[in-house]
Amino acid sequence: MHSAYISHPACLKHDMGSIHPECPARLRAIEDQLISTGLMHFLNHQDAPRVTDEQLLRVHPQSYLDWVREQAPVSGLAYLDGDTAMCPDTLEAAYRAAGAVVRAVDMVMKGEVENAFCAIRPPGHHAESARAMGFCIFNNVAVGVKHAIAAYGLERIAIADFDVHHGNGTEQIFHDDPRVMLCSTFQHPFYPHCGADSGNEHIINVPLPGGSDGPAFRDAVEKHWLPALERFQPQMIFVSAGFDAHWEDDMGQFKLRESDYVWVTNQLKKIAVKYAHERIVSVLEGGYELHALGRSVVAHVKALSEL
Ligand SMILES: [Zn+2]
Repeated sequence: MHSAYISHPACLKHDMGSIHPECPARLRAIEDQLISTGLMHFLNHQDAPRVTDEQLLRVHPQSYLDWVREQAPVSGLAYLDGDTAMCPDTLEAAYRAAGAVVRAVDMVMKGEVENAFCAIRPPGHHAESARAMGFCIFNNVAVGVKHAIAAYGLERIAIADFDVHHGNGTEQIFHDDPRVMLCSTFQHPFYPHCGADSGNEHIINVPLPGGSDGPAFRDAVEKHWLPALERFQPQMIFVSAGFDAHWEDDMGQFKLRESDYVWVTNQLKKIAVKYAHERIVSVLEGGYELHALGRSVVAHVKALSEL
C-alpha cells in the first residue's frame, strides 16, 4: 500500500475540558471524513506504539520527562502552561502520539509505504526541548526526525510546517542543527510571537500578515521553501500538518482552502520524488474548525496517497 494511517485510541482520551479547542472530536472529524469519502479503505492502518524513553531523550532532557510525569494528575486537570493541560489519560496519548511518528519513520524507511499520515494528539510543534506550551507536550515531529537520524543515519531532513502558528519548539530544537531544514509559513504578528526575526540558512521562516490567502501562501512557498529545498536535497520530508490556516478556522486569520493543501502537498511530493525516495511523514498539528479539518485532512491524505 502507498500510504499509512497511524493513530491510537488513547489519543481520543486526552481531554482538556469541554470548551478547549484541541479536543478529541478533532480526530473523530478526520476519521468521519476519511470513512465517508472512501479514502480510509485505501490506507494501511497502524496502531501507534508507545514511544520509548530512549526515543524521547533524543529531543527532551530527562529532567523534563520527569517533570511531565510528576504533573500527570490522578483526577481532574493539571496545567503545564496557560492553555496546555494534562488529564489522567494525557500521558498515554502523548506517548502514542510521539510513537506514531517513530512508527511512521520505520515504515517509510523500510519501504513498507511511501508516506504516512499520523492522526494524533496532543500536537507537538510548540513543544520546546524542556517546555510544554500551546497545547503541545512532546515535539512529535522532532522525535521522528531524531529517530530517522539515529536509527537510519540520514544526514539531511526537511520539515515543512504550514500550521497558521510558528512552530517555535521545532525551531528551538533544530536551530543549531544544519542536518535539519525547517520551512515554515505562519501568521505574524501572532502566537507564539516569534520566528519573524530568527532563522538562519536552514531555518526558512516566512511570516505572513493576517488575511493572507491561498495565492499569498503559494507565492511564499514558491519563493522561499522550494528553492531552499532544492538546494538542501532532503533525504526525507516531515510535514507539520496544521490545518488552522483554513479560511473557516477562526483560530487564525489565514484564508487557505483544501486546494491549497493539495497544492503544497504535491509540491512536497515532487521534492520527495526527486531527492528522498518519495519518503514523507506527515503529522497532525493544529486545525480546530471540525468540518474544515476533516475535509482538509482528506485533501492532504488523498494527495499523499495518489501515485
Ligand atoms: Zn496552530
